[in-house]
Amino acid sequence: MQTTIDFANLAVEVIARCRKLASFSEDVGGTRRTFLSPPMLDCHREVSSWLKALGMTVSVDAVGNSRGIYQGASPGAPRILMGSHLDTVPNAGAFDGILGVVLAVGLVESLERRKLPFGIEVVGFSEEEGVRFGVPFIGSRALVGRVDEELLGRKDEHGILVRKAIQDFGLNPNEISSAMLRDDVLGYIEFHIEQGPILESLGRPLGVVEAIVGQNRLELTFSGQANHAGTTPMNLRHDALAAAADWIVRVEYLARRTPGIVATVGFVEANPGATNVIAGEARTTLDIRHASDRARTEALDDLIRQAESSAAERGVTVKWRTLLAQHAVAMDPFLSGQIEQAIQKAGCEAYRMASGAGHDAMILAEKVPAAMIFLRTPGGISHDPSESVHLDDVAKALECGHHLLTQLAASQEFLGRTCRA
Ligand SMILES: [Zn+2]
Repeated sequence: MQTTIDFANLAVEVIARCRKLASFSEDVGGTRRTFLSPPMLDCHREVSSWLKALGMTVSVDAVGNSRGIYQGASPGAPRILMGSHLDTVPNAGAFDGILGVVLAVGLVESLERRKLPFGIEVVGFSEEEGVRFGVPFIGSRALVGRVDEELLGRKDEHGILVRKAIQDFGLNPNEISSAMLRDDVLGYIEFHIEQGPILESLGRPLGVVEAIVGQNRLELTFSGQANHAGTTPMNLRHDALAAAADWIVRVEYLARRTPGIVATVGFVEANPGATNVIAGEARTTLDIRHASDRARTEALDDLIRQAESSAAERGVTVKWRTLLAQHAVAMDPFLSGQIEQAIQKAGCEAYRMASGAGHDAMILAEKVPAAMIFLRTPGGISHDPSESVHLDDVAKALECGHHLLTQLAASQEFLGRTCRA
């Protein structure tokens, strides 16, 4: 389809809007906008003014998600969801999450009031990062019916319950069930910055996310015998820290030679932790991720065996416990294929990749076909004020999104899909 839309101009506006939202912050001189914090009200006001200007119906649901509906061509037409999250980490950049919401608004704008066979609901999720209550994805969980009493009873650092925070924001926690998706949703599409260096290293502006990686987090404790560093000969030691250190290097070695695996030991603590004492105990953690559950599980089993052998070689024992086990989530193959075509139509070479971080799309995928498009992240830097995007990449993302909407509007396969929400 030939189009006369000025995507470069629209991209300038998208970036300006992201910067504007970054000014709504709990902190002076930096961006921090956690779940249901006062600046989220200003953020909602700003987003809803954009949505209303496009003739959309605007609401805020009971967990504080901003939702705007651009009606389809006929009454009762199904809809697609597009968006991302509006909350941020402390000392955040302007684009993580926010860009996906603002791009969705820009895509509705690019339709120039043209109606499609489906409506578009732009969602700005209230909570994805898990900063305030230590639980991520509260916003998207509400859409799939996974906000339960246990979650509502969690407290923030000031002892405020989730339930109370919702009331304080002027919302009613008893209405959360009405935030759930109904059976008229054809799919969810999320644009997000990559937050990593892969697309930049390949020189590509856009990537198609095929899967969000599964991950395991473990805590390991190596137990030996604390003893005198001067009087205990090397062959008679049970050095727990040496066992842990040997294993840490094995973790790196295995991950380097296994395609797709990332494995990290990000914490180590030696006890008693003195210069002249052999460590009697060493505690470490492991974070291991892969887009294939099988590859991840095999690597994990291998690393546990290696921890036992690093320990046994020194007469040390090792115990481990699981902190988190999460399976990989595949994105919808049909939508991913359509995105690949749309990226090519926008004049770019598409790159299929896995997301190493969790995203709202992973939660939505429980109920509806979900797909993600990554934008190249300069320097791979995110969760930092220096987080940025290239203007040209944002223009390409808009062009890709516009082609995608046009393709889906013409696809009988897509329109004929039965909703499973
Ligand atoms: Zn994000």
